[in-house]
Amino acid sequence: MSIPPTFDPSVPHVVTLGTAGGPRWWQGPAAGRRSGIATAVVVEGKVYLVDCGEGVGTKLVLAGLDIADVRSIFITHLHSDHTIDLPNLVVWGTLALAAQRERQAPIQLVGPGDRGMLPPVSAHVKGIAPTPVGGSAPTPGVRGTLERIVDAYATDLNDRIFDTLRPSPLEWFQPREIVIPDGLDYHPNDNPSPDMAPIEVYRDDLVTVTAVLVQHQPMAPAFAFRFETAQGSVTISGDTAPCDNLVRLARGTDLLLHEAIDLTGIADRYQGEDPAAVEAGMEHHRKAHTTPEQAGTVAASAGARALALHHLVPSTASPDVWNGARKTFDGQFLVPFDLDTIPFGDPRIESSQPGELATATSSL
Ligand SMILES: [Zn+2]
Ligand SMILES: [Zn+2]
Repeated sequence: MSIPPTFDPSVPHVVTLGTAGGPRWWQGPAAGRRSGIATAVVVEGKVYLVDCGEGVGTKLVLAGLDIADVRSIFITHLHSDHTIDLPNLVVWGTLALAAQRERQAPIQLVGPGDRGMLPPVSAHVKGIAPTPVGGSAPTPGVRGTLERIVDAYATDLNDRIFDTLRPSPLEWFQPREIVIPDGLDYHPNDNPSPDMAPIEVYRDDLVTVTAVLVQHQPMAPAFAFRFETAQGSVTISGDTAPCDNLVRLARGTDLLLHEAIDLTGIADRYQGEDPAAVEAGMEHHRKAHTTPEQAGTVAASAGARALALHHLVPSTASPDVWNGARKTFDGQFLVPFDLDTIPFGDPRIESSQPGELATATSSL
């Protein structure tokens, strides 16, 4: 699909900058056709980015979106397939922003705080426990991640700060870690997605963003986000197994962008490996991700007006695999490619290729 012929750019919409999930370079005949997960929510010309998968900077350019129009970046969780090109945006984005003197406000980087503790060691460990990386802070949130990105690129950044009088990225990117409300029985290892009502994590004159914890163990915290505008709403699942919190967040939403995994396709990739490790891996995928059929059920339970699958794992799977969601969801259904545009406000959501349709306030 591409931009619908009746598309009015003043209508709130998403641009699917990258639709692949997973921390790998997917191989096979369709390799490279989908970039890493990243989504632009565009409201009255302002851009709200959700996740920064591989290729996000280039895809912003190809979508005709300017980093100067990016108000905020939302990180659902700190798996690398959602953050691998955050350094790219932070370092090169600072240089681009420095050339645009009219910009007033820094870009807000909204996402998880420090996990607080390491995840439990797998029951499959053999011998001594593994050694963590990251020194005295092995589970940073978005603040620590941003600071370490700047540290990692210090030679380059200081070169430009001193020689061409460029700013520090810390002037242009401002972390806002989501604080999980007191009173929830949240624990990163024992209870990472307790039942909760959505909490507000961001608000400006164009959007209000709410979030819930989702089920993506052992990663924690992991969030889904809902963007509410004057003309409609979009809900983005992040990575999660089917989760009541997400159904609550997505209640009546105009568009649900949901992750999807092809368990059969993933199982095929384990062929020849140790059966115990295969079962452990598959168990993780079942507990932490959602099949197309399950995504359809979530969308139907939430009463979503339209469902689009993204964060496709494997990204090279046949498009037919994703159509399984049609079995459980009879609303409008899309499997977007990279750089597709999906309006979610009035007028009605449309596609130019009908075959593809079916085809806490947090303390910030
Ligand atoms: Zn992911
Ligand atoms: Zn993940």
